Amino acid sequence: IKTIGVLTSGGDAPGMNAAIRAVVRTGIYYGMRVMGIRKGYNGLINGDITEMSLRAVSDIIHRGGTILQTARCPEFKEEEGIKRGVAMCKVFDIDAVVVIGGDGSYRGAKDLSKFGMKVMGIPGTIDNDIACTEYTIGFDTALNTVQDAIDKIRDTAYSHERCSVLEVMGRHAGYIALNVGIAGGAEVVLLPEKTFDLGKDVIKPIIEGRNRGKKHYIVIVAEGVGGAIEIAREIQEQTGIEARATILGHIQRGGSPTVNDRVMASMMGARAVELLKEDISNRIISLKDNKIVDIEINEALDMKKEIDEEIIQLSKILAL
Ligand code: ATP
Repeated sequence: IKTIGVLTSGGDAPGMNAAIRAVVRTGIYYGMRVMGIRKGYNGLINGDITEMSLRAVSDIIHRGGTILQTARCPEFKEEEGIKRGVAMCKVFDIDAVVVIGGDGSYRGAKDLSKFGMKVMGIPGTIDNDIACTEYTIGFDTALNTVQDAIDKIRDTAYSHERCSVLEVMGRHAGYIALNVGIAGGAEVVLLPEKTFDLGKDVIKPIIEGRNRGKKHYIVIVAEGVGGAIEIAREIQEQTGIEARATILGHIQRGGSPTVNDRVMASMMGARAVELLKEDISNRIISLKDNKIVDIEINEALDMKKEIDEEIIQLSKILAL
């Protein structure tokens, strides 16, 4: 492999820049050319592609977002779009494409591989919702951003003896909600993976907490559950405790990546290139048992991820 293309796709995540940097520098170290493809598969289709030098990735390791930018590209879900992507790789002499993104982005990569392109996936999403890996780049930073918000909200919830309802990201996966629920000492955590009963699962623990002497409360609602404003209103109506909702939104996607995200992104980016150098492709770089491994792309996409029941139980025990 002489020339690698690299792109970021799907939702942006802090640490994507560190991964791009690792791909570029490792690639150049091994004598390959690295082409930056802007705005995900859109840039691939439209030829928004330029060669990246060692210096092109200077001063980015600490920056959130992605210097290559990202986009959703509906055309890439059609065969016509894929063929245009493959043709553009030929135009730029790209032998392999490194895709930094989530499951959706890997489906695009898999389709490229069906037309003979060599591909490699790196897990980048704040949600940690990719089945084949225990960790995704951006997750740790997002957790810390949410944790910081909870700590601030806790100060004011304490001062006013309020209940704070916080909506955090996670449309289909509750990993952010569950982890910050534990780290932030939430009384209630509502996850998209679990149905809930407002009376039993929300109102009751709050009233029981009050009867044991609690003065303020944190309720975490994952985005996929939604309705934080409604839930706060119900809590206030049914318990008489003043309740306020905060929807954190895109704040959770930005910010300087944590050490963990930077190191993980660097190691995963480098591994992707090392494998390509050995002419190994069509794999997703993953973390398994705290080791970086690689999994065949079809196998990776067939995997299912279950939220850990023991951690859910722990969050309930510690909320007492
Ligand atoms: P995130 O978890 O942050 O949303 P993602 O990679 O799962 O990341 P998607 O929006 O699902 O994000 O996918 C990103 C892009 O990947 C899409 O805009 C599209 O170009 C491509 N893609 C998604 N699904 C497919 C598919 N089934 N076939 C081909 N390409 C796809």
